[in-house]
Amino acid sequence: YSSTIFAETMNYARFLTAVSAARKPSPIRMLTELQQRSPPSLISLAGGAPNPSTFPFLSASIKVRHGDTVTFDEAAMKRALQYSASNGIPELLTWMKNLQKQLHNPPTASYSPENGQMDVCVTTGSQEGLCKVFEMLVNPGDNVLLDAPTYPGTLAALQPLGCNIISVPSDQHGIVPSALKEILSRWDPSQVHAPGSTAPKILYTIPNGGNPTGASLTPERKQQVYELAQQYDMLIIEDDPYYFLQFNKPLAPTFLSMDVDGRIIRTDSFSKILSSGLRIGFVTGPKPLVERVVLHIQASTMHTSTFTQLIVSQLLHSWGQEGFLQHIERVIEFYRKQRDAMICSADKWLKDVAEWHVPSAGMFLWIRLKGIADTQRLIMEKALEKEVLLVPGGVFMINSTLPCPYVRAAFSLSSPEQIDEAFRRLSLLIKEAL
Ligand code: PMP
Ligand code: PLP
Repeated sequence: YSSTIFAETMNYARFLTAVSAARKPSPIRMLTELQQRSPPSLISLAGGAPNPSTFPFLSASIKVRHGDTVTFDEAAMKRALQYSASNGIPELLTWMKNLQKQLHNPPTASYSPENGQMDVCVTTGSQEGLCKVFEMLVNPGDNVLLDAPTYPGTLAALQPLGCNIISVPSDQHGIVPSALKEILSRWDPSQVHAPGSTAPKILYTIPNGGNPTGASLTPERKQQVYELAQQYDMLIIEDDPYYFLQFNKPLAPTFLSMDVDGRIIRTDSFSKILSSGLRIGFVTGPKPLVERVVLHIQASTMHTSTFTQLIVSQLLHSWGQEGFLQHIERVIEFYRKQRDAMICSADKWLKDVAEWHVPSAGMFLWIRLKGIADTQRLIMEKALEKEVLLVPGGVFMINSTLPCPYVRAAFSLSSPEQIDEAFRRLSLLIKEAL
């Protein structure tokens, strides 16, 4: 395919904030990256890299579950302790690009440096990627679409930008396309490029096992939402940290997999499958947009920890895609059992006082308490006395001051016995409050 396809259909400049458009590559970062790609015979007096022979750490060895070991000899350790490229270390990027190709096979991506129209960069958790994506795209006063209730980290990154968040109605299958269409009908699709148009330019959604609702979009709905994004020339931010925690096979087709235009920015996370504390995530999307995120990284953290990236990269290369997917299977098995235990206890203790949908992905059960208008006081004051803690639903709402009858329960960390006891306590709490 021709590398002009995107240029003809997509004008990325219209999506950028003035701040993002003004970002320029750091000349020193460019030299560092050039040096990394050069043979060792190159003598570099460029860059400001400190000498790692003065660093206290010498070598490392990390035991891995199911046999392997990740080891750093002194040479590897020197590299791990040094500055590296802002978009990520090359071997981790290559591994991730191959995985994206295998899982999503985006119609317009080649990922090759010459004609690649899509690109990938490493971020310090998907949260960093999301925050930088919003700062790249959102101006004060912009209309932004999302399906609330949603992840508070998203609200924390978006709301201070001064945008007007428009909530798109959703149910247990995520965004309702007819409702999105109804909202968009306020604007004329032929006028969205007119100067001063207030039409929304971005839509954010959590497509699988949503936080907090546990909702997952169906493939049909994704296609309909994508078509509306085409009609109104919008970008879709696909925040998918629970992609690898889907209980039903096969893994659902993603927005990225149907992205014929280059209007999907996808954030992936290793937090739920390799480690949340190591902080590794990925942004996948059109090259001109990923490039803006990388320029922002250059100016802020410089790059995700080289040590962290090397640990993860060594593990992934030793596993291969097959070993990685086998690991995912084990993780899914674990969370499926946890989910089943939570549903079992909910049926046992909460049937008369609450209602919920069984999530097909993720780590959360979203529970509506019957006859309780707002769960804030119940949880923040009364629940602690009964020694049970949940998240009151209000924190996931665009307007957190409105009453909300929901609570979020995570089935990730507690044992089935603890979950059962927690729901027994919750049922008592609700009955006392009624
Ligand atoms: N400030 C100054 C003046 C520097 O020279 C550097 C690194 N060369 C930094 C900040 C960034 O340092 P760090 O690696 O801790 O982000
Ligand atoms: N997006 C959603 C929907 C989440 O639920 C979370 C974590 O809870 C994140 C992003 C952040 O993930 P990370 O640890 O990769 O920054």
